[in-house]
Amino acid sequence: MISAPFDYHRPSSLAEALSLLARHGDDARVLAGGHSLVPAMKLRLAEPRVLVDLSRVAELRGISEKDGRIVIGAMTTHAELASSSFLAAKCPLLTETAPQIGDIQVRNKGTIGGSLAHADPAADWPPVALALDAEMEVAGPSGSRMIAAAGFFTDIMQTALRPGEVLRAIRVRPTGPSVAYVKTEQKASGFALCGVAVVVDRAANRVSVAITGIAATPFRASQVERALEGGPLTAERIGEAARVAAAGAQLLSDMHGSADYRAHLAQVNVRRAIVRASART
Ligand SMILES: Cc1cc2nc3c(=O)[nH]c(=O)nc-3n(C[C@H](O)[C@H](O)[C@H](O)COP(=O)(O)OP(=O)(O)OC[C@H]3O[C@@H](n4cnc5c(N)ncnc54)[C@H](O)[C@@H]3O)c2cc1C
Repeated sequence: MISAPFDYHRPSSLAEALSLLARHGDDARVLAGGHSLVPAMKLRLAEPRVLVDLSRVAELRGISEKDGRIVIGAMTTHAELASSSFLAAKCPLLTETAPQIGDIQVRNKGTIGGSLAHADPAADWPPVALALDAEMEVAGPSGSRMIAAAGFFTDIMQTALRPGEVLRAIRVRPTGPSVAYVKTEQKASGFALCGVAVVVDRAANRVSVAITGIAATPFRASQVERALEGGPLTAERIGEAARVAAAGAQLLSDMHGSADYRAHLAQVNVRRAIVRASART
């Protein structure tokens, strides 16, 4: 399988990347780790005439802390996230999720920004971003803006990014240790048949639950969250709340799993993730 021909640019700054995107308009796509875009190009599902490779844009890489937020550059790889001792201490949901993505080759090349921008309905980072109430820092032709994770994933493989915009970084608040990511994976790829991210905020007495893999977009399981409001996280309450994990979702059904199976996985994984997170103190 060979892709359609394309021109290749490798800018060394974000400003240069944005200028290339502005110059080439709809013909251009940015290239991050290439682990979703390149297979799509080989299958001719995507035929960009111009690729703008972000791999030399240093300002899009790395993990830092600013104004009480953890800032993760969009080009930071899954492997870099998995091995960060800073994140293990400050936001352990990220270091728990990263090693569950694909295999070592995928983790060494694939990026968190590429995964979020691609918005695959079975990807692992989107529910994590939702459960953490992440903010997406976006750079574009008319400056920078922030998009809340809750408004970022608009449809299957669609996001709130506008033409010519680049996802620059992901910002999250530090959390305590009471977090968990539990997924049932599709055995060949590792993608989620159902993945559940949970953050238990003990100070606010609140549980955040987000699910991937069972619907066209990842979503916050708000009925589960409401069912757990204002009381202790006992096994009985968690089990009861998990029953409504898939309530209201338009469930996917394909060769990897029926809608009923996905609904069942959602109940099981929501229960397991909340039990695991609440046991971590
Ligand atoms: C065999 C295999 C197994 C995998 N298993 C899993 C898995 O278990 N879980 C999982 O979550 N994922 C999995 N993936 C996907 C992997 O995580 C990819 O790395 C990810 O989906 C895309 O990231 P990327 O950096 O490779 O982006 P690319 O493929 O380079 O880009 C993807 C899309 O996002 C756009 N884009 C990239 N970066 C930006 C940016 N900064 N701003 C704006 N747009 C941008 C590109 O233009 C393109 O449209 C797997 C992939 C493979 C090949």
